[in-house]
Amino acid sequence: MSGPLLNALRDAVGADQVITEGDLSAWELDWRKRFRGKALAVVRPADTAQVAAVVRACAAHGAALVPQGGNTGLVGGSVPDTSGTQVLLSLGRLNRIRAIDKANLTLTADAGCVLQTVQEAAAAQGLLFPLSLAAEGSCTIGGNLATNAGGTQVLRYGNARELCLGLEVVTAAGEVWDGLSGLRKDNTGYDLRDLFVGSEGTLGIITAATLKLYPLPAAEMTALGACDSMAQCVQLLGLAQARLGAGLTGFEVMGRFALDLVAKHFPQLPKPLPGAAWTVLLEQSDGEGEQHARALFEALLEQALEDGLVSDAVVAESVAQSHALWHLRESIPLAQAEEGLNIKHDIALPVSRIPAFVEQADAALLERFPGARLVNFGHLGDGNLHYNLQAPEGVVADEFLAAHEAAVNALVYDAVQAHGGSFSAEHGIGSLKREELVQRKSPVALGLMRAIKQALDPQRLLNPGKVL
Ligand code: FAD
Repeated sequence: MSGPLLNALRDAVGADQVITEGDLSAWELDWRKRFRGKALAVVRPADTAQVAAVVRACAAHGAALVPQGGNTGLVGGSVPDTSGTQVLLSLGRLNRIRAIDKANLTLTADAGCVLQTVQEAAAAQGLLFPLSLAAEGSCTIGGNLATNAGGTQVLRYGNARELCLGLEVVTAAGEVWDGLSGLRKDNTGYDLRDLFVGSEGTLGIITAATLKLYPLPAAEMTALGACDSMAQCVQLLGLAQARLGAGLTGFEVMGRFALDLVAKHFPQLPKPLPGAAWTVLLEQSDGEGEQHARALFEALLEQALEDGLVSDAVVAESVAQSHALWHLRESIPLAQAEEGLNIKHDIALPVSRIPAFVEQADAALLERFPGARLVNFGHLGDGNLHYNLQAPEGVVADEFLAAHEAAVNALVYDAVQAHGGSFSAEHGIGSLKREELVQRKSPVALGLMRAIKQALDPQRLLNPGKVL
């Protein structure tokens, strides 16, 4: 019976923060609208103590909990199942910046802080929090860490994991682990922080984090290059790394069809290098200033033109132009959504294997599914591609997906595996890729993961059915 549990939850957070009626789709439907669940209640605690009280109430009543931040995850991890028995734990009210230590270059924030709020709090102190992704206006630090989010600057600063020095976590038993360390060195036993980062809400509830900050660069500058082949894009990456070193903060690639979709659905956006088979976006951060950054970019692109790696290039003339170029890149997922349902793959490969992978996977897909439209873009500098497929023109997308999604996935993931890659680079496992994990992870790795889950959540109440 849910009555006693609901009463215990109301005692924990106040009756007005336990929502059981009305339209709950903001919490029950995932961002891609592929997973819709039914929650027993949406519970909105205000602080760590209330989160712990909620977890203890759920544990006492044997009720499962689904933690949720901004609900921007792309693998169905943040929504409940359809049983109507799971408690949706929304962390959005844990939204305080707790501290900024300028000398230590750290910021401590509640887990429900929106990523953009954290970036702005750092910038207000003349500092940089470099995690950046298109969902930054609504995703939360807790969700970023729970999914080990990547984004556009991984090449220079690493994933969310590398940007996190400490965590505060509510365990499955409702205890609070205060691991909010601002230490860059601490070898005192197993790394509990790294266990919770990337665990997608299945091992504990992240309630706060201490994050690494960096000095704000004196200048940031963006350029585009037009390449004829993926092999040229990879060679350009090597040249840019050699010339710019740690100054190269982003290296994104966009296939022609991906940008054609942007042009179709957002015709007001610029088309800087029309017709390029591959458009590369390079981002540079410079400690010395704009003139220095521009000179470095111009020398790099002249060399690339001379070496035949690019056929054309542009350097943004202003911050507004840089934003416009990034906006093109960030509009690709939205343009794809406008075009209709599609099959997404968020894959990682050794950079050196990407040209061969793309050539082989493209050919195999087009042979098996003639007319399929391949949308290829992503963080090439990190070896991470969003290698997606849109149904052939004129074919009803849902019917195509229902008939062919499993075969498309098998073909793509087999090719990824053959090239030593990962079938989930950034977005995690959630519900969407759980079966893939079981099939593709080694039995030893799966056994270790199950043992960790059993040790930390023996009642299996934290986000059951996700990841494992
Ligand atoms: P949610 O979606 O709410 O949750 C995600 C998972 O984390 C769920 O399993 C949930 O249970 C768990 N969780 C959430 N909060 C907590 C917590 N406090 N404690 C424990 N578990 C928790 N991802 C990238 O990595 N790189 C990108 O470039 C990128 N770009 C994106 C662009 C768009 C337009 C969109 C919509 C998404 C993008 N994503 C990207 C995916 C998504 O934004 C990230 O996964 C993000 O980190 C999720 O944060 P969230 O707060 O929305 O988490």
